[in-house]
Amino acid sequence: NKSISLKSRPVGTPTLSNFEFKEVEKPQIKEGEVLLQLKFVSVDPYLRGRMSDAKSYIPPFELDKAISSGAIAEVVESKNDNYKVGDFVSGHLDWQEYQVSEGKNLLKVDGAQVSLSAYLGVLGMTGLTAYFGLSEIGKPKEGETIVVSGAAGAVGSVVGQIGKILGCRVIGIAGTDEKVEMLKSKFGFDEAINYNTTKDMQKAIAEASPDGVDVYFDNVGGEISDAVHANINRFGRVVVCGAISMYNATEVPMGPRVQGFLVKQSALMQGFIVGNYQEKFPEGMKQLVTWLQEGKLTYEETRVQGFDNIPNAFLQLFEGKNKGKMIVEI
Ligand code: NDP
Repeated sequence: NKSISLKSRPVGTPTLSNFEFKEVEKPQIKEGEVLLQLKFVSVDPYLRGRMSDAKSYIPPFELDKAISSGAIAEVVESKNDNYKVGDFVSGHLDWQEYQVSEGKNLLKVDGAQVSLSAYLGVLGMTGLTAYFGLSEIGKPKEGETIVVSGAAGAVGSVVGQIGKILGCRVIGIAGTDEKVEMLKSKFGFDEAINYNTTKDMQKAIAEASPDGVDVYFDNVGGEISDAVHANINRFGRVVVCGAISMYNATEVPMGPRVQGFLVKQSALMQGFIVGNYQEKFPEGMKQLVTWLQEGKLTYEETRVQGFDNIPNAFLQLFEGKNKGKMIVEI
C-alpha cells in the first residue's frame, strides 16, 4: 500500500525531492468504516500553498504525513450501511492507494453520464470556482467583454464557456499555440492570445477587445494581469481567483500597479475562495450539469497515469503541461 508524503517544504519551484514515497500497511476497517481504493487524483495549484508553512485559509500539510487532495475512490470493503462495495465516491483523500474512511464528507458519484474524473473538474471544485467567481463577482452582462488568464486550464476553460453562454465576448490568455487553438475551436472563445509569443500584451488585449474589458477573471497574476488591468473599462470587475505566476516566487514583486486603474476606472477588484459559496454548491452543480447535458458546456482533461506520477503531475501544472483539468489515473 503506497503513500506519498511531504518530505520537505519547497523553496521556490518544488521538485521531486520534496516528496517521499512510503510503503504502509493496508488498513483494516472497523464497524461503520469503509476501505477506499484511489482511482483518480486531482492535482491543483493551491496545493503549492499548503506545502509552505505560511498562514493561509487552509492549514499547511504536515511533514511526513500523507498529502491529500480531491480524489475519486472505489469502495472495496464496507462495514457502513450507507456504502456498498463497488460504489464510487468523491472526497478529500490522502495520496495513499488504500485508506479507511468513516464515510463522512464523501459524495457518491456515478460514471454513467460523465467520466468519474469530471467530478474533480467541471463538476467539481474547479467548475464551481469558475461558476461562482464569474457569477458572484464578475457579474457579466450580455454583450460585455470578459478576459480570462490561465484560460486553457481547469478553471479558465469553464469561465470562458460560461461567458459565451451568457452572451459575452470572451478572450483567453494561455501559454502555447495549441492551447490558443483549443480555446477557439473547442471552447468557442472569440479570441485567444499566447502570452509566451506576444511581445506587447497590453496592445494585443486592446486589439482583441475593441470595446475594452468589462470583466477580468484572473488566474495568474503578475505581468499578464498588469497588461489586462490597463484595458479595464469604467466600472469593470476584476475577479482575483489565483496567481499561479507567483506561487513559486521567493520574493513577490510589489508595486502600486493596480491603484491607478482602480481609481481611474472606478473598478472593483475582489479575491475569493470557492469555499465561500459552499451553501450554494448544489445550485452551482445543478447549473453545470444542465449546461453539460444541453451540450453548452464541454471539458478537457489531461490524464497522467499511475500513482507514482502524482507528484510529477503536480509539478507539471507549473510548466503548463496540462490542457483542461490535470488528473492522475491510478
Ligand atoms: P490550471 O488547470 O489552469 O493549471 C495551471 C495552468 O497555469 C498551467 O496549465 C499553465 O498554463 C498556467 N501557468 C503556470 N505557470 C504560469 C505562469 N508563470 N504564468 C502564467 N500562467 C502559468 O489550474 P486550475 O484551473 O486548477 O487553477 C487556476 C488558478 O485558479 C490557479 O491560480 C489556482 O490557484 C486558482 N484557483 C483558485 C480557487 C479559489 O477558490 N480561489 C480554486 C481553484 C483554483 P499556460 O500554458 O497557459 O501557462
